[in-house]
Amino acid sequence: MIVALTGGTGGAKLVEGLAAVVDPSQLLIICNTGDDCVFHGLHVSPDIDTITYTLAGLSDTEKGWGIKGDTFAAMEHLGRLGNDIWFNLGDRDLATHITRTRLFREERKLSEITEQIRRALGVTATILPMSDDRIETRVQTAAGEISFQEFFVKERWAPDVRAVRFVGAEQSRPAPGVLEAIRRAEAIIVCPSNPITSIGPILAVPGIRAALEQIEAPVVGVSPIIGAAAISGPAHKLLRTAGWQASALGVARCYRGFLDNFMIAAEDESIAAEIQSLGIETRCANIRMTSLADKRRLATEVLAWATK
Ligand code: GDP
Repeated sequence: MIVALTGGTGGAKLVEGLAAVVDPSQLLIICNTGDDCVFHGLHVSPDIDTITYTLAGLSDTEKGWGIKGDTFAAMEHLGRLGNDIWFNLGDRDLATHITRTRLFREERKLSEITEQIRRALGVTATILPMSDDRIETRVQTAAGEISFQEFFVKERWAPDVRAVRFVGAEQSRPAPGVLEAIRRAEAIIVCPSNPITSIGPILAVPGIRAALEQIEAPVVGVSPIIGAAAISGPAHKLLRTAGWQASALGVARCYRGFLDNFMIAAEDESIAAEIQSLGIETRCANIRMTSLADKRRLATEVLAWATK
């Protein structure tokens, strides 16, 4: 089994590549749930949904979220009725959130709901939330503490960030199957996701980081940072807030202790030796994924390195 840890944007790109080159029944994805939010009374799990839609061939890869070709009639009407609609949800996407919310009301766990939705959408790879317990990524700004979605979507990640915390993480447990998957994996792939707000919450669930540190199987990461900036989104800004350098080296330091191999950008060749000195095998490659061919190529390179 190949196990991937992921958020929803850079991670989904590599997951799409992995699904194209690995037998999907041998692929297990552990998703961040720290971004989960309630909108209009509905439970939204943005990263799980992006990964599920990606693996179902439904994702809107242009936008990077939602379902391709979705319409927004419900949003428009919600707006007319005076609802706050800064978080855009397509009509078909809403059906997912309605289903998840109904199943929560029937006291089903997030892992069971995720399993039901992925099967209904014909996904053969396994998708697990990092935890069935509620963990909320909170971003502290000068104007107060806000959810990750408020920071990322509503505020377009403009506010200065003082700190990030994962409320509920300390008392949480990994979802059923998460630790077993890590312990039995042939290889673990740490996707090029935000190290602070996508991989960070996963590592904050007690037991997950320790399991990654203990396993013999190789743990291979791909950098989400090129030079001093993220390819998209606020990862560089949040790395600095957390006291790390905004670079692939900063990400490598963040993952030190469990990361064996790290794929960084060809442009970052000058810092490869310093990452190597942390005891992490480092290779330079084209890590930008714009086409499906890029995603497949990078997934193939990562897997070849992980399973050599
Ligand atoms: P989120 O849940 O939307 O924050 O999604 P992720 O954490 O999975 O993805 C965000 C990260 O993906 C950012 O830090 C980006 O720099 C990174 N990213 C986006 N596109 C690419 C790409 O083509 N290649 C790589 N290596 N990273 C990317």
